[in-house]
Amino acid sequence: MDLESTTCLVTGGSGFLGRAVCRLLESRGATVIVPRSRDHDLRRREVVERLLSELRPRVVIHLAAVVGGIGANRRNPATYFYDNAAMALHVLDESYRAGVAKFVGVGTICSYPKFTPVPFRESDLWNGYPEETNAPYGLAKKMMLVQAQAYRAQHQFPAIMLLPTNLYGPGDHFDLESGHVIPSLIRKFVEARRRGDPTVTVWGTGTPTREFLHVSDAAEAIVAATESYDDGEPMNVGSGDEISIRALAELLSDLCGYRGALVFDASRPDGQPRRCVDATRARERIGFRARIPLRDGLIETIRWFEENEGRR
Ligand code: GDP
Repeated sequence: MDLESTTCLVTGGSGFLGRAVCRLLESRGATVIVPRSRDHDLRRREVVERLLSELRPRVVIHLAAVVGGIGANRRNPATYFYDNAAMALHVLDESYRAGVAKFVGVGTICSYPKFTPVPFRESDLWNGYPEETNAPYGLAKKMMLVQAQAYRAQHQFPAIMLLPTNLYGPGDHFDLESGHVIPSLIRKFVEARRRGDPTVTVWGTGTPTREFLHVSDAAEAIVAATESYDDGEPMNVGSGDEISIRALAELLSDLCGYRGALVFDASRPDGQPRRCVDATRARERIGFRARIPLRDGLIETIRWFEENEGRR
């Protein structure tokens, strides 16, 4: 699909990932429309119906989601389930009714079973229940895959589903309680350095592993898949690099110039034990390879935090 002069509706287009996706779409010559959540409550069917029938986009990229780190998932399981399930249900259905030529659903690595063999292959997606802290979120998103495949089978609706791994980068949500691990630790280390604190607390045992993908790389994959992936099978979007939370925390501490000690608080949840995707399908089908090495991306993100949110 050529995106030049194509109207693309991007739900969540003003969010962390959405801004990066919209910039890329515009660079391809697409006409990008971003519905704002204060004007359009996508959990309500009639709102979504009106939006789609009035705008008649050719492409819908559904990024709108209620997301957060492990702390936020633990505190708000009902909200994370209901809001994400309701939005996807209506946005996909109304996209079909409005005759959209391509629907791009963006899911999550949290949909994988808790103990998926590493690297996570798309064919292992249904082999178990997700890790408990993020199951309501992961399963709400996973229903979008079922819906996409059902609409493809019954209506030949060209819906695709992508499964990005943990994202990070400039513009992330740097909140200590509800943010993900990278932005939370950046805030902790930068503030501790400035105050001269002797220790910084890292949640959990440090033994879990995660894979991280720069938000710009994720946006590249989403736009490339919009252009050239048309298959009912879900596709992982990741870097294929696994790192332990302990190693990540040590790296961030160093890059933030913090010289104190790390304390691991095992009373905080570890979440899923290991995470790392098999990125073969995305490489073969859309030629996607993550380009930004973790260390470079972290340096850029720390700088962004210090120059923006973390200004003194
Ligand atoms: P997850 O990848 O969906 O589990 O979400 P997070 O990014 O919130 O957490 C990833 C891992 O980092 C978990 O094992 C957390 O226990 C660990 N972690 C360590 N310190 C922190 C912190 O300050 N904030 C968050 N959110 N996670 C932390």
